[in-house]
Amino acid sequence: MNINNNYSSICWLRHDLRLSDNPALLNAIEQGDTLIVYIYDNINSDESTMMGQASKWWLHHSLTSLDLSLNNRLSIFIGDPQTILAKLCKTHKVKNIYWNRCYEPWIIKRDKNIKKSLQENGVNVETTNASLLWEPWEIHKEDQTPYLVFTPFFKRGCLNALPPRTPLKAPNLNNAKKSDLSLTINELNLLPKLTWYESFENIWDIGEKAAQEKLQDFIFDGIINYKEGRNFPSNKNCSRLSPHLHFGEISPNQIWYAIEDLDETEYPEKDLYHFKSEIGWREFSYNLLFYNQELPKQNLYKKFDNFPWKKDVSHLSSWQKGLTGYPIVDAGMRELWQTGYMHNRLRMVVGSFLVKNLLIHWNYGERWFWDCLLDADMASNSASWQWVAGSGADAAPYFRIFNPIMQGQKFDPEGVYTKKYVPELKNMPTKYLFNPWEAPPEILSDAGVNLGTNYPKPIVDMQESRDIALQAFDKIRIKS
Ligand SMILES: Cc1cc2nc3c(=O)[nH]c(=O)nc-3n(C[C@H](O)[C@H](O)[C@H](O)COP(=O)(O)OP(=O)(O)OC[C@H]3O[C@@H](n4cnc5c(N)ncnc54)[C@H](O)[C@@H]3O)c2cc1C
Repeated sequence: MNINNNYSSICWLRHDLRLSDNPALLNAIEQGDTLIVYIYDNINSDESTMMGQASKWWLHHSLTSLDLSLNNRLSIFIGDPQTILAKLCKTHKVKNIYWNRCYEPWIIKRDKNIKKSLQENGVNVETTNASLLWEPWEIHKEDQTPYLVFTPFFKRGCLNALPPRTPLKAPNLNNAKKSDLSLTINELNLLPKLTWYESFENIWDIGEKAAQEKLQDFIFDGIINYKEGRNFPSNKNCSRLSPHLHFGEISPNQIWYAIEDLDETEYPEKDLYHFKSEIGWREFSYNLLFYNQELPKQNLYKKFDNFPWKKDVSHLSSWQKGLTGYPIVDAGMRELWQTGYMHNRLRMVVGSFLVKNLLIHWNYGERWFWDCLLDADMASNSASWQWVAGSGADAAPYFRIFNPIMQGQKFDPEGVYTKKYVPELKNMPTKYLFNPWEAPPEILSDAGVNLGTNYPKPIVDMQESRDIALQAFDKIRIKS
């Protein structure tokens, strides 16, 4: 017991809520008695950067799990990290602070100021990388400019760079201490008032141990056939590791090397490579955000600034509620609401529908995802929305408009996924499941479907909305 309550170090945890492969934690603990601190910053973030409701739910449970692994020695605070860290240094005579870097522009700005002020007060600050395989500034083109296309970014940039750091062991926690100034996790008030998240409770196991188990389950049961199978939402070929990665319950390095260690005679090379390349998309998104700090709000390609978006509150609301009358779109939106997750194929389909069929600005989609996704991540969310809209890096060309009927028929051929989330259509024959408005009246009646009553009629006509979108795109193409 330290009678003076003086500690040599603070490890400030942020998007790295784990004990293993955590360089800042290891460095801090090596110095001696260490306070392991989480600060919920409700001061420096604004409406657009503040954590969404679903993320707060995850954070509550992630902190609870981490605290348990630390035998209740996690110190919890809410407020301005600069003020809190300064106070902790003063109270506990701390001389060293360690943290792992974050890459969101508002956090970079905040952390620079905190580092400067701590150093001015004689505190040694050391920062490390724990959430990316390669730092954004390590991967660039030969002429030093950032990549804007994924394939050369990954193949020429990442795979030719030095290999990522191999994962580190968890430290011995004998030196882990708790500040007597700490609040409890409940005092952060993270659990949202609207209790829609109750349905998540049986779906997700949260925390470092759960993340490692999920990776092992995926290796056991999902990675074989990943390349093709990842497109089918009712298959088990997706890892669902994204929220764990976002909160840093597992590091990309741990995932990368778990995959590298697999025996290629048992696991097809194409699947292993493809999975690693998806982790590469995450790196690409961070790279894009680092070099384009306005990515979450502004079109990367400025010609989209002149796009004639529509402001249709009623269409936006139908999309959010999963009541567009397009079953595959509605299934995706309801999966999001009911589980806090949406399969990647569906994210592309519902995104394309919002921006190209409803002509609603991608910002509205990005905001809804930000609030509802458990894996809401500034880099991946904004880069992906811009990709869907056509305004971003390596984007799908604007004229490539996903057809929700064909997407359903191709990627949910038996209708298992769609019927799960749109039970109103559970008795529809697959032939008309994705286009019920084309079904003869007796088929609708046999299936118990009354369009406009117990399932909506389509809110827009597919062909007409497609034509309008292409005309709108032509206008900005001509102008640019
Ligand atoms: C409109 C839209 C919004 C998105 N918003 C987010 C977001 O907020 N947070 C988020 O983590 N991902 C986002 N994605 C990317 C992708 O859909 C998810 O990462 C993926 O669905 C997570 O499921 P998984 O873990 O089962 O993926 P897996 O297929 O198992 O992939 C493994 C990991 O690779 C990474 N990854 C896979 N695909 C992508 C991708 N296209 N871009 C970036 N990283 C990828 C993720 O970290 C993922 O956990 C978005 C995609 C779209 C089209």
